[in-house]
Amino acid sequence: MRGGRMLQAIAVAWLLLFVGDFVSTFCYHVPEHVFGKLHVSVHHAPRKNFRHYAVLSGRPSVVADGLLGALPYIALSVLLWSYSWQGVLLGMIFGQFHVWWRHTTALGWRTPGPIAWLCRWLLITTPEQHWRHHHNSTIGYGDIFTVFDTPARCMLKQLRRWRARYRYFLVSAG
Ligand SMILES: [Zn+2]
Ligand SMILES: [Zn+2]
Repeated sequence: MRGGRMLQAIAVAWLLLFVGDFVSTFCYHVPEHVFGKLHVSVHHAPRKNFRHYAVLSGRPSVVADGLLGALPYIALSVLLWSYSWQGVLLGMIFGQFHVWWRHTTALGWRTPGPIAWLCRWLLITTPEQHWRHHHNSTIGYGDIFTVFDTPARCMLKQLRRWRARYRYFLVSAG
């Protein structure tokens, strides 16, 4: 691959992951925590093993939650394929790798210092950061990128406020 094509592939891979994480976080992950049950019951169930959290278990509920979270990436892959199919493959491979890697805390692994430093620099979510989300669903958003954490927390608070108000109206109407 020539230098220009390679840069284009890296840019497309980054775009796929960044926009995919953005859409997945704000259109699925955060709303699921407020209005849904599937993600919370599957992904935040305590005392499950690595295979369960890393979507390696074939249980239909695990696959369904994984697939719904991955839908934005799949849609973007189709859109970006003609720009750089190499970039799409690179992004999807990295994305899949990150799903496994961010759950290695369940295996007792710890991120080595230099990798944690690199992730901080690239704004990439480490397994330790993601694990905080497993324990406390109000923090640690952005499955791949940490920049989505703060806006996701704001959206979560706002949606919970709306849900509470909606419930109040439902109760007073009934
Ligand atoms: Zn997780
Ligand atoms: Zn969650």
